Amino acid sequence: MGSSILSRLINRRGSVSHEVTLGLIALVLGITVLYVDAFTEIESAIAVLYVIVLLLSAEIMTRTGVTLLAAICGALTLFAFFYSHGLEEDVPAQLRLAVSLAAITITCALILRNETARAGLIEANLHLRDSETRYRYIFEHSRIALWERDYSAVRAFLMSLKAEGVTDLKDYARANPGMIPTCIGLIRTIASNDAALELLGHVADGLPSRTMRRYIAPDDDTFLDLMSAIFRGERHFEGKGNLVAENGETRLVIMSMSFPEDPAAFSRVVVGMMDITQREMMQKAIREAQDELARASRAATVGTLSASLAHELNQPLGAIVVNAQTLLRWLNREPPDLAAVHRSAERIIRDSQRASEIIHNTRSMLTQGDRTPEQVDLETLIEETRTLMEHDFQRDMVSFDVAAVEKPLAVKAIRIELQQVLINLVTNAVQAMRETAIDQRKILISLARKDDIFVTLSVRDFGPGISEEAMAKLFTPFFTTKPSGMGMGLSICRSTLEARGGQLVAGNHPEGGAIFEMIIPIEDDHDRH
Ligand code: ADP
Repeated sequence: MGSSILSRLINRRGSVSHEVTLGLIALVLGITVLYVDAFTEIESAIAVLYVIVLLLSAEIMTRTGVTLLAAICGALTLFAFFYSHGLEEDVPAQLRLAVSLAAITITCALILRNETARAGLIEANLHLRDSETRYRYIFEHSRIALWERDYSAVRAFLMSLKAEGVTDLKDYARANPGMIPTCIGLIRTIASNDAALELLGHVADGLPSRTMRRYIAPDDDTFLDLMSAIFRGERHFEGKGNLVAENGETRLVIMSMSFPEDPAAFSRVVVGMMDITQREMMQKAIREAQDELARASRAATVGTLSASLAHELNQPLGAIVVNAQTLLRWLNREPPDLAAVHRSAERIIRDSQRASEIIHNTRSMLTQGDRTPEQVDLETLIEETRTLMEHDFQRDMVSFDVAAVEKPLAVKAIRIELQQVLINLVTNAVQAMRETAIDQRKILISLARKDDIFVTLSVRDFGPGISEEAMAKLFTPFFTTKPSGMGMGLSICRSTLEARGGQLVAGNHPEGGAIFEMIIPIEDDHDRH
């Protein structure tokens, strides 16, 4: 109870001995003033000296304590007055009493006001310290390399150049090679964080270097850009530049800083930097890998084209051999059946022409030679494909049916390209049905106008269809589920059609089997544009 009253009266600011000393002095002075005022004949406003007691106690007392003490001093002054003068009329004494009481009251009021101002100041100071601590914490713990730099001298220098009439700083720097080193020398680093030391490498004494000269790569223009930004009075600067770290390594960094409006605040500019060397290296590696992949895929395409050439030539060559054998048989007959020989010879000629056409087209595809689109009747194209693949159908016991043909259906395209796509799709369909029951091995071709722009030629089979997993990678080069497959067919088919503004769509038929749709533009790309 006693201590709580005391704590409301005494303000613990300094050491206890200091408080006791001040308290004792105030007490002794108070008693002395009281004694002289009440019990001696000195005729002066001695009670004014209570002001000193109040001032001394202001150091160690709270606002309540000071107010209480002022009241006590006032009461003692009144007591001394009445004790020594009683109720007699003594105007000078009454005036002295009034002066003393006024002095005590005014002093008390001033102490209280001073105390209020001091408390406000202390609070503001605490806030300031708090925000400074927060700033320091962020500065020191940031993963971004930060420097606090004094740009005031360099700004003053640049402004003096402006005042001298310089308008283009870059021109000036080119004409005065000493400008950059002068500017660098005028910038002082005040502080830096751990990330900054990490970026440029730790210096021997653990402190950031006082000058940036050594860190700026000789061929780097970023510093001049920065100077130009200050010269032009810009408020922000962002740049990408090279810095040389302590160990001699060059680091590619992005730097960013904001300049204050007030020129005086240039003495404390925060500079942030991020090391992007790794990122840049990774991007370079990715670009190189992509180029490598593109080269590999070009090589693979050439390989596939020659493989497809061999594959496509196999059919006409096989047919030529079969027809030549048949021709020989007709010729060896007694008498020879010349009409049949003639038919076989015609077939041989047709297959040979087709073989040479394949070679010609593949060669022009390899040399990327331009081919001219022609009017292609799709029904004829399908029939030609049937003839070409007759052997495959017979070998695998597959029937080849053409359904729903809208006539006439012609497109402007490069015939051999469409034929190669169709042959590929039909070959895949034949291969997909090797496990299918013989009586169900069927390929259904349908041809229809999709809209005003496209025709759809679809190839449907009755095999197992395409699994979900295969569907995702179907058109990816080298994806194959066949032991001797190359996995390039569909990817080439798709790019062949897409190059001419068409599409290749794969799916499964609800009644089983796969269905591939060639979506072919009716008009050639050139005609449409
Ligand atoms: P390849 O025939 O050399 O495997 P493709 O690119 O032509 O290369 O085909 C890739 C894969 O797509 C095949 O291995 C197969 O798994 C699947 N595929 C293609 N056509 C069909 C089809 N009609 N039915 C089921 N799967 C197919």
